[in-house]
Amino acid sequence: MTELLAVLKKRIRAGGPISVSEYMSACLLHPQFGFYSRQEPFGIDGSFTTAPEISQMFGEIIGLFLAQAWLDQKSPGEFTLAELGPGRGTLMSDVLRSTKVVPGFLEAANVAIIEQSPKLSRRQISSLKNWSATHLELASELPDRPLFLISNEFFDALPVRQFVKRRDSLAEIRVGLIGDRLAPGIAPVAPIGPNRNPTDIPASEVVEVRPSAESVMRPISERIARFGGVALIVDYGDWNIRGSTLQAVCRHGKVDPFAAPGHADISAHVDFGSLAGLAGNAEVTAMATQGEFLMRLGISERARILAKKLCGPALENHLAALGRLTDPDAMGSLFKAISLYPRHAPAPPGFTGGR
Ligand code: SAH
Repeated sequence: MTELLAVLKKRIRAGGPISVSEYMSACLLHPQFGFYSRQEPFGIDGSFTTAPEISQMFGEIIGLFLAQAWLDQKSPGEFTLAELGPGRGTLMSDVLRSTKVVPGFLEAANVAIIEQSPKLSRRQISSLKNWSATHLELASELPDRPLFLISNEFFDALPVRQFVKRRDSLAEIRVGLIGDRLAPGIAPVAPIGPNRNPTDIPASEVVEVRPSAESVMRPISERIARFGGVALIVDYGDWNIRGSTLQAVCRHGKVDPFAAPGHADISAHVDFGSLAGLAGNAEVTAMATQGEFLMRLGISERARILAKKLCGPALENHLAALGRLTDPDAMGSLFKAISLYPRHAPAPPGFTGGR
């Protein structure tokens, strides 16, 4: 039995079934036994691999995206260069390296990381040690100045609550015990339901909501609307998410989300439409697939330049990485991107049109 399983069983026996979001939050961020508190989850040897860990090109292209948006907004003098949930810090390191060529950009940047896992934040600060990065626990602690922010696979880790229609109202799915095993079940009518009319929801369709997304999106969009800047959100998901998307990944394979809490990465698809709805006075681009976004910003050219210095297996790996990031049957279309920017500023590069 995992340590977290024992903790959760005790909690459920004492207080009754817990919401899916309480469960997810414990699985990821329990101070001792949570997935992000216990181990090194990323990379080939970890549980899952993210885009910046696949190739440096991902961070380089995002660096140039940020620098172009900064130039388009007349190069604000002092700004926050922030990342939500930076994992090992690889994406931010690649951004910082690739933007050295843009005069004035790094001189004006104050690097900030927003991270809740103490273990990972220590790791991030050390991999960004030349940049005296500031660690913040919450997006609301971001300073009042222009904000250039990136996030990759952050929102999918924010816990979701799940609801299902029961007669004419919505009931919450909660995690309880069947014998000695954790299992989801349907609780009596939900006290606070999602902001949707139950009559619009088909019988037995699961509705997911992500309550903490607002406390992240609001402060970010307020800073961008008031002081300028841009936010790039890349994640797996779609404009409208229907049904249950809760999933757990351990050692690069899918596992039962309730089987071994704390030992698997647990996440749910990101509803980009809901995130865009939290953008307040900031403008939101149309959604692009990750493949479209990277291609429009010239990843093929960058790949060609890097390929010139490679041969043999290194060249094969490099080309395979390009394919993984951009092919529609790999991450290219499962992953999507949107961007927030100030009204009256040019739309950021890599996107077409407004929402
Ligand atoms: N962006 C990284 C890692 C993605 S994993 C990459 O692309 O490789 C999710 C990251 O978000 C981890 O660093 C995790 O600790 C962090 N995280 C999860 N929930 C969080 C929360 N509520 N607030 C801040 N950070 C969180």
